[in-house]
Amino acid sequence: MSGLNFEEQALLAPVERAPILTHTLDWAAINSGTANLDGLAAMATRLADAFAALPGEVRLVDPAPVEKVDSQGRTREVVHGRHLVLSVRPEAERRVILTGHMDTVYPLDHPFQICDWLDANTLHGPGTADMKGGLAVMLAGLAAYERGDPTLGYDVLVNSDEETGSLSSAPLIADLARGKLAALTYEPALPGGQMARARPGSGNYAVVIHGRSAHAGRNPEDGRNALLAASDLALRLAAMRRPGLSVNPAKIEGGAPNNTVPDLAVLHFNMRPATPERAAEAQAHITAAVAQVSAAHEVHLHVHGHVSRPPKAITDKTEALYGLVSKAAADLGQPMSWKDTGGVCDGNNIAACGVPVLDTMGVLGGSIHSPDEYLLADSLDARARLTALVLHRLDRHGVLPT
Ligand SMILES: [Zn+2]
Repeated sequence: MSGLNFEEQALLAPVERAPILTHTLDWAAINSGTANLDGLAAMATRLADAFAALPGEVRLVDPAPVEKVDSQGRTREVVHGRHLVLSVRPEAERRVILTGHMDTVYPLDHPFQICDWLDANTLHGPGTADMKGGLAVMLAGLAAYERGDPTLGYDVLVNSDEETGSLSSAPLIADLARGKLAALTYEPALPGGQMARARPGSGNYAVVIHGRSAHAGRNPEDGRNALLAASDLALRLAAMRRPGLSVNPAKIEGGAPNNTVPDLAVLHFNMRPATPERAAEAQAHITAAVAQVSAAHEVHLHVHGHVSRPPKAITDKTEALYGLVSKAAADLGQPMSWKDTGGVCDGNNIAACGVPVLDTMGVLGGSIHSPDEYLLADSLDARARLTALVLHRLDRHGVLPT
């Protein structure tokens, strides 16, 4: 740690692995799959207790309403857990935001529910890397930062629905991100410990298509085949693919018995634009394709969905933040490399607010979203030190270096 001045060394000296690991194990033992509302409520209570160690006020915020299209083309409300917000020094002129999520991809009935050690440094368990370890790191880093005469204000947001796209927390993310100096998000590092740079956007869509049913033998000419229209639309969407835009027609629901012209189909697809320009082009293409299919098949189409994860571009401010974190990591003796990635996360939503965001501040580990998920325990205290040092330097330098 030769790159640290005396004040920084004193700030980081008390950071220890054991309490961070204790929190990680405690939280990973609670199932908090995105649909497990009881588990999420239990997690929110534990987190509220733990984050109460910081100054400021913890509150739980109700999820925004979210609708989903079912196989009959009807919209239904999807329930979500509450989101945790901690606001510290809200009056401060310079404020940052730190975010994470309390949900995991493992439902209550998933076989992967408990932690075990694969070796002295490798903790195998659900949500260890993604991201209960990350939440524990964030808390420990903030606690260390608070011991160093802090002046930055900050909001902590821990949402309950990140793994299904943050649809019920997106307005809250945007609200809290706005006007912040910088953002740190505690997703795990990429495999091999690399930090994520640019990310594409992502949008999930459902197109409900209503045609007209008719007898397949007696009067098929009176029918308007919704299934054919859905297939036509799927082909037109697939033809939109180009560099910087992937489109995946994923599922068609609906249809009718063999003797009937089907009057209902629902086409689900995902779209990933690399840039905001590609996203706008793609949206225009979708609108045009829907109009063409409507005219060609004489059916009604209703499009649900949008690019809910806007593309995360790298700006000068982002580069400045990454430079600051790189320098801090180097001064701590923690090697750091960087890479663009195809995945999306809340960093996308934060970047869309014009706030520079580093969204892989969490632990090192791997095999996330699988029964092999693990975290490397020595990254717990290492990343907590990094968090504290980055906040301390943001505080002392006043602005991001350029
Ligand atoms: Zn995650």
